[in-house]
Amino acid sequence: MTIVIGSILSKLEQMYVRKFIIPNFLEHYFFALIFVSVNAIHMKPFKSIIDFQRVFGTDEACRLYLEEQRWGGTPACPHCGSINVCRFANGSGIFKCREKQCRKKFSVTCKTVYQDRKLPLHKIFLAIYVLGTHSKGISSLQLANLLDISQPAAWLLNHKVRAMLAENDPEALTDLVEADETWVGGSIKNKHNNQKRTRDLRIQNKQRKAEGQPPLKRLAPGDNKTMVAGMVQRGGKVIARVVPNVKGGTLQLFVRKNVKEGATLYTDEWGGYKRLGKFYTHESVNHKLGEYVRGSAHTGTIDGYWSLLKRQIDGIHHSVSPKHLQRYVHEASFRYNHRKDTQDIRFAEALKNCNGSLQYKQLIQ
Ligand SMILES: [Zn+2]
Repeated sequence: MTIVIGSILSKLEQMYVRKFIIPNFLEHYFFALIFVSVNAIHMKPFKSIIDFQRVFGTDEACRLYLEEQRWGGTPACPHCGSINVCRFANGSGIFKCREKQCRKKFSVTCKTVYQDRKLPLHKIFLAIYVLGTHSKGISSLQLANLLDISQPAAWLLNHKVRAMLAENDPEALTDLVEADETWVGGSIKNKHNNQKRTRDLRIQNKQRKAEGQPPLKRLAPGDNKTMVAGMVQRGGKVIARVVPNVKGGTLQLFVRKNVKEGATLYTDEWGGYKRLGKFYTHESVNHKLGEYVRGSAHTGTIDGYWSLLKRQIDGIHHSVSPKHLQRYVHEASFRYNHRKDTQDIRFAEALKNCNGSLQYKQLIQ
Protein backbone atom coordinates (compact mmCIF):
# COMPACT_ATOMS: atom_id res chain seq x y z
CA MET A 1 0.00 0.00 0.00
CA THR A 2 2.81 2.35 1.00
CA ILE A 3 4.69 1.62 -2.21
CA VAL A 4 1.56 2.12 -4.33
CA ILE A 5 0.72 5.52 -2.76
CA GLY A 6 4.42 6.53 -2.91
CA SER A 7 4.72 5.68 -6.59
CA ILE A 8 1.41 7.44 -7.42
CA LEU A 9 2.66 10.56 -5.66
CA SER A 10 6.00 10.54 -7.43
CA LYS A 11 4.28 9.95 -10.82
CA LEU A 12 1.94 12.85 -10.09
CA GLU A 13 4.93 14.98 -9.15
CA GLN A 14 6.76 14.09 -12.36
CA MET A 15 3.68 14.66 -14.54
CA TYR A 16 3.07 17.96 -12.89
CA VAL A 17 6.57 19.36 -13.11
CA ARG A 18 7.58 17.85 -16.45
CA LYS A 19 5.59 20.27 -18.57
CA PHE A 20 6.44 23.58 -17.00
CA ILE A 21 8.13 25.27 -14.09
CA ILE A 22 5.38 25.89 -11.59
CA PRO A 23 4.47 29.49 -10.65
CA ASN A 24 5.90 30.40 -7.29
CA PHE A 25 2.74 30.50 -5.13
CA LEU A 26 1.34 27.29 -6.66
CA GLU A 27 4.68 25.56 -6.25
CA HIS A 28 4.73 26.07 -2.50
CA TYR A 29 1.17 24.81 -2.23
CA PHE A 30 1.96 21.79 -4.40
CA PHE A 31 5.11 20.83 -2.51
CA ALA A 32 3.39 21.30 0.83
CA LEU A 33 0.79 18.78 -0.35
CA ILE A 34 3.43 16.30 -1.55
CA PHE A 35 5.53 16.68 1.59
CA VAL A 36 2.58 16.20 3.94
CA SER A 37 1.56 13.04 2.06
CA VAL A 38 5.08 11.62 1.98
CA ASN A 39 5.54 12.44 5.63
CA ALA A 40 2.35 10.58 6.50
CA ILE A 41 3.61 7.51 4.61
CA HIS A 42 7.19 7.47 5.85
CA MET A 43 6.54 8.15 9.48
CA LYS A 44 4.82 4.76 9.78
CA PRO A 45 6.99 2.83 12.25
CA PHE A 46 9.19 0.11 10.85
CA LYS A 47 10.32 -2.72 13.07
CA SER A 48 12.73 -4.63 10.86
CA ILE A 49 15.12 -4.23 7.95
CA ILE A 50 12.42 -5.66 5.66
CA ASP A 51 9.98 -2.90 6.74
CA PHE A 52 12.76 -0.39 6.21
CA GLN A 53 13.48 -1.63 2.70
CA ARG A 54 9.78 -1.44 1.85
CA VAL A 55 9.75 2.25 2.70
CA PHE A 56 13.22 3.29 1.53
CA GLY A 57 13.92 0.78 -1.24
CA THR A 58 14.30 3.40 -4.00
CA ASP A 59 16.36 6.55 -4.42
CA GLU A 60 13.21 8.52 -5.11
CA ALA A 61 11.59 7.56 -1.81
CA CYS A 62 14.81 8.48 0.04
CA ARG A 63 15.09 11.81 -1.76
CA LEU A 64 11.48 12.78 -0.97
CA TYR A 65 11.97 11.87 2.68
CA LEU A 66 15.20 13.87 2.84
CA GLU A 67 13.51 16.87 1.22
CA GLU A 68 10.73 16.73 3.77
CA GLN A 69 13.11 16.31 6.68
CA ARG A 70 15.57 18.99 5.58
CA TRP A 71 13.13 21.63 4.34
CA GLY A 72 9.82 20.71 5.96
CA GLY A 73 7.82 21.61 2.84
CA THR A 74 9.66 24.85 1.99
CA PRO A 75 12.74 24.14 -0.16
CA ALA A 76 15.53 26.63 0.53
CA CYS A 77 18.64 27.39 -1.50
CA PRO A 78 21.67 26.01 0.43
CA HIS A 79 23.92 28.63 -1.21
CA CYS A 80 22.07 31.81 -0.17
CA GLY A 81 19.23 30.56 2.08
CA SER A 82 16.45 32.00 -0.10
CA ILE A 83 13.15 30.14 -0.42
CA ASN A 84 12.53 31.80 -3.81
CA VAL A 85 13.38 28.60 -5.73
CA CYS A 86 11.89 26.44 -8.45
CA ARG A 87 12.20 22.76 -9.25
CA PHE A 88 13.47 21.59 -12.64
CA ALA A 89 10.80 20.02 -14.77
CA ASN A 90 12.41 16.61 -15.34
CA GLY A 91 11.64 14.87 -12.05
CA SER A 92 15.34 14.67 -11.13
CA GLY A 93 14.95 16.59 -7.87
CA ILE A 94 17.14 19.46 -9.08
CA PHE A 95 16.15 22.97 -8.01
CA LYS A 96 17.23 26.41 -9.17
CA CYS A 97 17.51 29.52 -7.05
CA ARG A 98 15.52 32.46 -8.43
CA GLU A 99 17.51 35.14 -6.63
CA LYS A 100 19.30 37.34 -9.18
CA GLN A 101 22.63 37.31 -7.39
CA CYS A 102 22.59 33.50 -6.91
CA ARG A 103 20.80 31.55 -9.67
CA LYS A 104 22.58 28.37 -8.62
CA LYS A 105 21.31 24.84 -9.09
CA PHE A 106 21.04 22.48 -6.16
CA SER A 107 19.43 19.28 -4.92
CA VAL A 108 18.49 18.16 -1.42
CA THR A 109 21.91 16.52 -0.97
CA CYS A 110 23.80 19.78 -1.68
CA LYS A 111 26.12 20.75 1.22
CA THR A 112 25.35 17.57 3.15
CA VAL A 113 27.41 14.44 3.78
CA TYR A 114 25.72 12.92 0.70
CA GLN A 115 27.17 15.55 -1.62
CA ASP A 116 29.32 14.14 -4.47
CA ARG A 117 28.02 10.71 -3.57
CA LYS A 118 28.86 7.90 -5.92
CA LEU A 119 26.57 5.47 -4.11
CA PRO A 120 22.81 5.35 -4.63
CA LEU A 121 20.92 7.16 -1.88
CA HIS A 122 18.97 4.05 -0.84
CA LYS A 123 22.26 2.25 -0.02
CA ILE A 124 23.39 5.22 2.10
CA PHE A 125 20.03 5.16 3.91
CA LEU A 126 20.42 1.44 4.61
CA ALA A 127 23.92 2.04 6.03
CA ILE A 128 22.54 4.78 8.33
CA TYR A 129 19.76 2.47 9.47
CA VAL A 130 22.14 -0.41 10.19
CA LEU A 131 24.70 1.72 12.02
CA GLY A 132 22.08 3.60 14.01
CA THR A 133 20.08 0.58 15.07
CA HIS A 134 22.53 -2.35 15.42
CA SER A 135 23.48 -2.99 19.02
CA LYS A 136 27.25 -2.88 18.31
CA GLY A 137 27.52 -1.38 14.81
CA ILE A 138 28.96 -3.08 11.75
CA SER A 139 32.44 -3.44 10.25
CA SER A 140 33.27 -2.02 6.83
CA LEU A 141 33.68 -5.56 5.47
CA GLN A 142 30.21 -6.59 6.66
CA LEU A 143 28.73 -3.36 5.32
CA ALA A 144 30.45 -3.91 1.96
CA ASN A 145 28.83 -7.35 1.71
CA LEU A 146 25.43 -6.05 2.81
CA LEU A 147 25.36 -3.20 0.28
CA ASP A 148 27.33 -4.99 -2.46
CA ILE A 149 29.97 -2.24 -2.62
CA SER A 150 33.76 -2.23 -2.23
CA GLN A 151 35.34 -2.32 1.25
CA PRO A 152 37.03 1.11 0.90
CA ALA A 153 33.68 2.65 -0.14
CA ALA A 154 32.02 0.98 2.87
CA TRP A 155 34.81 2.24 5.17
CA LEU A 156 34.29 5.82 4.01
CA LEU A 157 30.51 5.52 4.28
CA ASN A 158 30.81 4.07 7.78
CA HIS A 159 32.88 7.07 8.89
CA LYS A 160 30.53 9.56 7.24
CA VAL A 161 27.59 8.04 9.09
CA ARG A 162 29.54 8.06 12.38
CA ALA A 163 30.24 11.77 11.87
CA MET A 164 26.48 12.26 11.40
CA LEU A 165 25.77 10.51 14.69
CA ALA A 166 27.77 13.16 16.58
CA GLU A 167 25.89 15.43 18.94
CA ASN A 168 28.00 18.54 18.46
CA ASP A 169 26.42 20.87 20.97
CA PRO A 170 24.80 18.64 23.60
CA GLU A 171 22.58 20.00 26.36
CA ALA A 172 24.40 20.19 29.71
CA LEU A 173 23.76 17.30 32.10
CA THR A 174 22.11 17.93 35.44
CA ASP A 175 20.81 16.20 38.60
CA LEU A 176 22.96 13.09 39.37
CA VAL A 177 25.99 12.85 37.09
CA GLU A 178 28.87 10.34 37.01
CA ALA A 179 32.22 11.34 35.46
CA ASP A 180 35.10 9.03 34.62
CA GLU A 181 37.89 8.46 32.13
CA THR A 182 39.21 5.36 30.38
CA TRP A 183 42.02 4.19 28.12
CA VAL A 184 41.12 2.82 24.71
CA GLY A 185 43.61 0.88 22.57
CA GLY A 186 45.81 -2.19 22.53
CA SER A 187 48.56 -3.00 25.00
CA ILE A 188 52.23 -2.44 24.13
CA LYS A 189 53.03 -6.03 25.17
CA ASN A 190 50.80 -7.32 22.33
CA LYS A 191 52.62 -5.30 19.67
CA HIS A 192 55.08 -6.81 17.23
CA ASN A 193 58.71 -6.61 18.34
CA ASN A 194 59.50 -4.17 15.54
CA GLN A 195 56.93 -1.74 16.92
CA LYS A 196 57.68 -2.22 20.61
CA ARG A 197 60.98 -0.29 20.41
CA THR A 198 62.32 -2.40 23.25
CA ARG A 199 65.13 -3.98 21.29
CA ASP A 200 68.00 -2.34 19.46
CA LEU A 201 66.76 1.16 20.30
CA ARG A 202 70.32 2.44 20.72
CA ILE A 203 71.38 1.06 17.34
CA GLN A 204 68.27 2.50 15.67
CA ASN A 205 68.84 5.91 17.25
CA LYS A 206 72.52 5.93 16.15
CA GLN A 207 71.39 5.34 12.61
CA ARG A 208 68.63 7.99 12.89
CA LYS A 209 71.17 10.50 14.26
CA ALA A 210 73.44 9.87 11.27
CA GLU A 211 70.44 10.50 8.98
CA GLY A 212 69.60 13.70 10.88
CA GLN A 213 66.30 12.34 12.27
CA PRO A 214 65.12 12.85 15.87
CA PRO A 215 65.68 9.87 18.22
CA LEU A 216 62.87 7.47 19.11
CA LYS A 217 61.74 7.27 22.72
CA ARG A 218 61.12 4.00 24.53
CA LEU A 219 57.37 3.32 24.66
CA ALA A 220 55.65 3.51 28.04
CA PRO A 221 52.70 1.16 28.79
CA GLY A 222 50.09 3.87 28.01
CA ASP A 223 51.70 5.16 24.80
CA ASN A 224 49.59 2.96 22.56
CA LYS A 225 46.35 4.03 24.19
CA THR A 226 44.07 7.02 23.80
CA MET A 227 42.26 8.64 26.69
CA VAL A 228 38.50 9.17 26.57
CA ALA A 229 36.68 11.20 29.23
CA GLY A 230 32.95 10.89 29.73
CA MET A 231 30.04 11.72 31.96
CA VAL A 232 26.56 10.34 32.19
CA GLN A 233 23.39 11.61 33.82
CA ARG A 234 21.74 8.76 35.70
CA GLY A 235 18.74 7.67 33.63
CA GLY A 236 19.76 10.18 30.93
CA LYS A 237 22.37 10.93 28.32
CA VAL A 238 26.10 10.39 28.03
CA ILE A 239 28.68 12.88 26.74
CA ALA A 240 32.13 11.47 25.89
CA ARG A 241 35.16 12.96 24.15
CA VAL A 242 38.73 11.96 23.30
CA VAL A 243 40.99 14.08 25.51
CA PRO A 244 44.74 14.76 25.19
CA ASN A 245 45.39 13.96 28.89
CA VAL A 246 43.64 13.57 32.23
CA LYS A 247 45.22 16.51 33.99
CA GLY A 248 43.02 18.56 36.32
CA GLY A 249 42.74 21.48 33.86
CA THR A 250 41.51 19.28 30.99
CA LEU A 251 38.98 17.32 33.04
CA GLN A 252 37.64 20.34 34.92
CA LEU A 253 37.08 22.28 31.69
CA PHE A 254 35.29 19.29 30.17
CA VAL A 255 33.04 18.76 33.22
CA ARG A 256 32.24 22.46 33.70
CA LYS A 257 31.25 22.83 30.03
CA ASN A 258 28.92 19.83 30.06
CA VAL A 259 27.42 19.64 33.57
CA LYS A 260 25.14 22.34 35.02
CA GLU A 261 26.39 23.99 38.19
CA GLY A 262 24.73 22.67 41.33
CA ALA A 263 24.45 19.08 40.04
CA THR A 264 25.69 16.17 42.14
CA LEU A 265 28.90 14.76 40.69
CA TYR A 266 30.15 11.24 41.40
CA THR A 267 33.72 10.31 40.43
CA ASP A 268 36.53 8.01 41.50
CA GLU A 269 39.44 9.18 43.65
CA TRP A 270 41.42 10.67 40.72
CA GLY A 271 42.94 14.02 41.75
CA GLY A 272 41.90 15.72 38.48
CA TYR A 273 38.33 16.08 39.79
CA LYS A 274 39.19 17.46 43.22
CA ARG A 275 38.65 21.16 42.56
CA LEU A 276 35.15 20.60 41.16
CA GLY A 277 33.69 20.64 44.68
CA LYS A 278 33.34 24.45 44.34
CA PHE A 279 30.72 24.10 41.61
CA TYR A 280 29.04 20.78 42.35
CA THR A 281 28.12 18.52 45.25
CA HIS A 282 31.07 16.23 44.68
CA GLU A 283 31.32 12.71 46.10
CA SER A 284 34.00 10.19 45.19
CA VAL A 285 34.58 6.49 45.77
CA ASN A 286 38.09 5.16 46.29
CA HIS A 287 38.62 2.29 43.85
CA LYS A 288 42.21 1.84 45.06
CA LEU A 289 40.91 0.94 48.52
CA GLY A 290 38.36 -1.45 47.01
CA GLU A 291 35.46 0.95 47.58
CA TYR A 292 33.08 0.87 44.61
CA VAL A 293 29.75 1.88 46.15
CA ARG A 294 29.01 4.13 49.10
CA GLY A 295 25.32 4.93 49.41
CA SER A 296 24.37 6.53 46.10
CA ALA A 297 28.01 7.34 45.25
CA HIS A 298 29.34 5.03 42.50
CA THR A 299 30.47 5.16 38.86
CA GLY A 300 28.63 2.02 37.72
CA THR A 301 26.53 3.82 35.07
CA ILE A 302 29.49 5.35 33.21
CA ASP A 303 31.31 2.00 33.54
CA GLY A 304 28.34 0.48 31.67
CA TYR A 305 28.90 2.98 28.86
CA TRP A 306 32.65 2.20 28.73
CA SER A 307 31.90 -1.49 28.34
CA LEU A 308 29.47 -0.70 25.48
CA LEU A 309 32.18 1.37 23.74
CA LYS A 310 34.87 -1.28 24.25
CA ARG A 311 32.60 -4.14 23.16
CA GLN A 312 31.89 -2.19 19.97
CA ILE A 313 35.59 -1.57 19.30
CA ASP A 314 36.98 -4.96 20.39
CA GLY A 315 34.09 -7.05 19.08
CA ILE A 316 33.49 -5.43 15.70
CA HIS A 317 36.57 -3.44 14.72
CA HIS A 318 39.28 -5.16 16.88
CA SER A 319 41.34 -1.96 16.96
CA VAL A 320 40.85 1.63 15.84
CA SER A 321 43.29 4.38 14.99
CA PRO A 322 43.46 7.19 17.59
CA LYS A 323 42.70 9.76 14.89
CA HIS A 324 39.37 8.05 14.13
CA LEU A 325 38.48 7.16 17.72
CA GLN A 326 36.25 10.19 18.35
CA ARG A 327 33.86 9.05 15.62
CA TYR A 328 33.57 5.58 17.22
CA VAL A 329 32.84 7.34 20.52
CA HIS A 330 30.10 9.37 18.78
CA GLU A 331 28.62 6.13 17.47
CA ALA A 332 28.57 4.46 20.90
CA SER A 333 27.15 7.63 22.51
CA PHE A 334 24.36 7.83 19.92
CA ARG A 335 23.49 4.20 20.58
CA TYR A 336 23.46 4.79 24.35
CA ASN A 337 21.47 8.05 24.16
CA HIS A 338 18.79 6.54 21.94
CA ARG A 339 18.59 3.18 23.69
CA LYS A 340 14.92 3.71 24.60
CA ASP A 341 13.83 4.94 21.13
CA THR A 342 12.14 2.82 18.48
CA GLN A 343 14.08 2.03 15.30
CA ASP A 344 12.26 4.59 13.15
CA ILE A 345 12.92 7.38 15.67
CA ARG A 346 16.58 6.38 15.88
CA PHE A 347 16.84 6.46 12.11
CA ALA A 348 15.18 9.90 11.88
CA GLU A 349 17.54 11.20 14.60
CA ALA A 350 20.59 9.78 12.81
CA LEU A 351 19.55 11.48 9.60
CA LYS A 352 19.05 14.91 11.17
CA ASN A 353 22.70 15.84 11.39
CA CYS A 354 23.59 15.58 7.71
CA ASN A 355 24.83 19.14 7.13
CA GLY A 356 28.48 19.64 6.20
CA SER A 357 30.61 17.21 4.25
CA LEU A 358 33.33 14.72 5.11
CA GLN A 359 35.74 13.88 2.33
CA TYR A 360 38.09 10.92 2.06
CA LYS A 361 41.10 13.29 2.06
CA GLN A 362 40.01 14.72 5.44
CA LEU A 363 39.69 11.22 6.87
CA ILE A 364 43.15 9.99 5.94
CA GLN A 365 45.01 13.14 6.99
ZN1 LIG B 1 20.46 30.92 -3.84
